[in-house]
Amino acid sequence: MTALLDPTDVPKPTSPGHGDAFTRHMYSLRYAPGHGWHDGQLMPLAELSLHPATIGLHYAQVIFEGMKAFRQADGSVAVFRPRENARRFQRSAARLAMPALPEERYLEGVERVVAADQNELSDHPDHSLYLRPLMFGTDVNLMLRPSDGYRFLVMAFVAGGFFGDTVEAVSVLVSREHSRAMPGGTGDVKCAANYGPSFVAQRAAREAGCQQVVWLDSAEHRWVEEMGGMNMFFVRGTGDDATISTIPLTGTLLPGVTRDSLLRLAARLGHRTEVAPLSVDQWRADCASGAITEVFACGTAAVVTPVGTVRDRDGDWTVGDGTMGPVTAKLRRGLVDLQQGRADDVDGWLHRVPPC
Ligand SMILES: *Cc1c(COP(=O)(O)O)cnc(C)c1O
Repeated sequence: MTALLDPTDVPKPTSPGHGDAFTRHMYSLRYAPGHGWHDGQLMPLAELSLHPATIGLHYAQVIFEGMKAFRQADGSVAVFRPRENARRFQRSAARLAMPALPEERYLEGVERVVAADQNELSDHPDHSLYLRPLMFGTDVNLMLRPSDGYRFLVMAFVAGGFFGDTVEAVSVLVSREHSRAMPGGTGDVKCAANYGPSFVAQRAAREAGCQQVVWLDSAEHRWVEEMGGMNMFFVRGTGDDATISTIPLTGTLLPGVTRDSLLRLAARLGHRTEVAPLSVDQWRADCASGAITEVFACGTAAVVTPVGTVRDRDGDWTVGDGTMGPVTAKLRRGLVDLQQGRADDVDGWLHRVPPC
């Protein structure tokens, strides 16, 4: 079940499967007080041997990241904006009372795996290498306190199927029962504890005939926050005059690298961009009036996913004609072209990794 391995994006049957075609190697690095980060090594991907009282298993002192590496037009392989993920990993660590992993050590782990296993990535344009860094508390101790020791791992799997030009719009259920994040909580970092509790809401969406769940703010249950493990965008107007709008990072949203990339890309393509809150009522009213023409969600795994229909307790509605709109398609294509090295990398977003 893909959602267990990659809860941060749209689960969808792909070929190769999303989250199971692991590559041969992993990178491992350890932390101990007094020693700092040490014992970094590339090793065969293998099971870990963990004491049942490993602290991370009990108290969720576990953080992770998700990035992709892409085969470039010239045959090389490049990771998309990995420094952004390294910095986010540091923010996640700080929030969970874990030591900061220096950006260069994070990159080293990623580069070692990509260098070793890039031959497992075909040059099929639909395929990419999904990279999954993980860090957890390793102390064997059940006192309710932060771990002293930590382990950082990087693993990878070949992902496919997300880039075809026919992208199905998803149906979404507005979750009224469950919240993903709360003020003062951990919604703005990528910690494991955010995702397990979301599965029941995801299941409720499935049972309501929808593919994804839309999260509202936990205080008023009124403001749109995210869709599943993806950030949301709302298109107002059409063509080159369309305004691209997204939700502000209030502290309960995960600051997506894809969100940031699309905001910049949209501006570069000449669109007005806007970061503004949106209530569910306004979303429905603006779809009814035609003011909102397209809606999509974005994240590393599925890139850009159009939203076609919305189900809520007061009734359902359709966004546009219920299929992927032209502005969504243009932004999606623009981002994929950048990631695969077919567009000018003006911002230096591609981090090339030579084979070893
Ligand atoms: C990872 C994640 C995203 C998307 O982040 P990207 O950096 O674009 O992959 C959005 N929302 C949540 C809750 C996430 O965990």
